[in-house]
Amino acid sequence: MSLSYQAARQQILDRIHPLEAETVPLLEALGRAVAEPVIAPLDLPRFDNSAMDGYALRAADSGAGVQLRVTGYLAAGSLERPSVEPGCAVRIMTGAPLPPGADTVVPVEKTDGGEVLVTLRETIPPGDHIRWRGEDVRAGDEVLPLGTVLRPPEISLLASFNRTEIAVVRRPRVAILSTGDELVEVGRPLTEGRIVNSNSWALAAAVLELGGIPLQLGIASDTRESLRQKMTAGLQADMLITSAGVSAGDLDLVREVLDELGVEQQFWKIDIKPGRPTAFATKGRVPVFSLPGNPVATLVTFEEFVRPALLKMLGQKQILKPLLRAKLQQPARKKPGRAQFMRVRVREENGVLIASSSGDQNTGILRTSLLANGIAILPADHGDFAAGDEVEIHLLGRDVEWLSATTPDP
Ligand code: AMP
Ligand code: MG
Repeated sequence: MSLSYQAARQQILDRIHPLEAETVPLLEALGRAVAEPVIAPLDLPRFDNSAMDGYALRAADSGAGVQLRVTGYLAAGSLERPSVEPGCAVRIMTGAPLPPGADTVVPVEKTDGGEVLVTLRETIPPGDHIRWRGEDVRAGDEVLPLGTVLRPPEISLLASFNRTEIAVVRRPRVAILSTGDELVEVGRPLTEGRIVNSNSWALAAAVLELGGIPLQLGIASDTRESLRQKMTAGLQADMLITSAGVSAGDLDLVREVLDELGVEQQFWKIDIKPGRPTAFATKGRVPVFSLPGNPVATLVTFEEFVRPALLKMLGQKQILKPLLRAKLQQPARKKPGRAQFMRVRVREENGVLIASSSGDQNTGILRTSLLANGIAILPADHGDFAAGDEVEIHLLGRDVEWLSATTPDP
């Protein structure tokens, strides 16, 4: 009956498939995965060219104090092709095509800079300061394997191939449904006993940050009718995430109604803390995550289970975060039974990662999440931890947040 968090994640990933491709303008592809391998259509550089402002010449003609006749001028983009005869040099700018006859370039600093006659200071070896055709990329090379996520360097490469569009994996539309009679929409009057539907915003932000398209479906009240109506709409999306109503309370109807709608339950309850009542189900190719309602548990279970699923749908290759080893700063109390996702502040000291609790680990305390830049995964079968014990951690958020935890601001 009991399901480890690794097994739960595997069951999820086994049922998730990358979405189809769509062709988009180059900039819209930023942060997305290529849906087909990209083969270089041309050599880069496309022609032999100068890497310096200087003179193109024959290496054999060079030497300290040698004087050469300057017979031409080549700017970048120049269409002229003045050839370099023995005893001559052509003034050349960075990026200009190497003229016929020349086999080396001397930077202007190593000459007297003459315009009619130029005097060299030294012997120049052949091939100096030349960028050879194809030395960077050869036509036919597979430069971006399937699933490569496009960053500015990849966008640079595609643009240099003269491409205006690229096929990337479509962004999943992720329906987000909050459930519970106690909820009111953000911006509405907060009457006695009510709380704001903050999970809808937390989940929408988390989906957006990964590249999904959040569809906020609002609030379903704790009735079959309301749940049925909203979930039916949610199942039209590529993924449905619900929050709350999956515990064992009287009004926890989420799983029952999903069942009535023909959604196939894969599992309910994982041996983790927080987030135990998490449920996962599928309807055809639409995955349905039912996350616990507690805002801390909602985001932790999103991070650990929904995030990898969403990245897989987005066609990405690196879908799990690397696990790093860190030493615990303080002891941590733990009962054997469930894996614990402990919210920590990670820093580096003399090449060793140190993880310290970012605050009260009670699921009700969101402040502890605000201060955390990592999650320590305390294994299910383990009891108490002592200070200095080694644990596995992964980082949260973006690299910059991680770096700012260890590097002081200038
Ligand atoms: P439940 O999973 O329904 O037992 O809810 C657990 C806790 O999370 C309760 O204190 C709820 O009030 C709270 N909660 C449920 N849904 C939301 C939501 N959408 N936004 C913020 N808190 C919520
Ligand atoms: Mg509830």
